[in-house]
Amino acid sequence: MNQERARQIRTGLEAVRTRVDRAARALGRDPARLTLVVVTKTHPASDIDTLARCGVDAIAENRDQEASAKLEQITCRDQLRVHFVGQLQRNKVNSVVRYADVVQSVDRSALVRALDRAANERDRTLEVTIQVGLDRSGQRGGAAPEDIPRLADLVAGSRALHLRGLMAVAPLGESAAVAFERLGELAQRLRADHPAADWISAGMSGDLEEAIAHGATHLRVGTAILGSRPSHG
Ligand SMILES: *Cc1c(COP(=O)(O)O)cnc(C)c1O
Repeated sequence: MNQERARQIRTGLEAVRTRVDRAARALGRDPARLTLVVVTKTHPASDIDTLARCGVDAIAENRDQEASAKLEQITCRDQLRVHFVGQLQRNKVNSVVRYADVVQSVDRSALVRALDRAANERDRTLEVTIQVGLDRSGQRGGAAPEDIPRLADLVAGSRALHLRGLMAVAPLGESAAVAFERLGELAQRLRADHPAADWISAGMSGDLEEAIAHGATHLRVGTAILGSRPSHG
């Protein structure tokens, strides 16, 4: 084990936990109710083991091929919940269902049906959030806000999927706070029909404070903990 790398990761993790704590307390929110999901894409399996040893219990990956290979190599699989947060092609669904506990990037009905079928075949359940596109260009992925009710009903009516809430990435070229405020309103509307769908997955390394201020329950943080990655993702 590379001691220097382990030290870097521990320092990054402590810094992010401090930021989360401060942001939550400033708003009177209980930091213990926020879930930190460490985004490990592009980083090696050994980093995932280090994170688990530091008490991390949730990680996220965004590419099936990379994720399935890495997760085979880790020794601490039992301690971790694995979230899938990338754009998901239907032909990858059978693979993703083998290792993911949560799929956050559900954005169309064909994907809901494919995930439900694949999870049923494996006799398991999956937690899902609907990814919302907060910018009209659709550049950062996600369903249009007006499609949320239909997708939510489809997930809620499926056999193997549990609807947990919404996920979004802040659009480029707009303030994250304004975008996350919109997300909070959409989440509130979703909860009116599906009270158990109370997750708001928002906030990354650069905007986790804004996300917490607008009700985020799940933070997806990569760079601020693991350092920068090569340009992919
Ligand atoms: C990469 C990624 C993150 C983490 O972004 P950082 O800026 O590295 O914290 C969060 N969410 C999604 C969907 C991602 O692809």
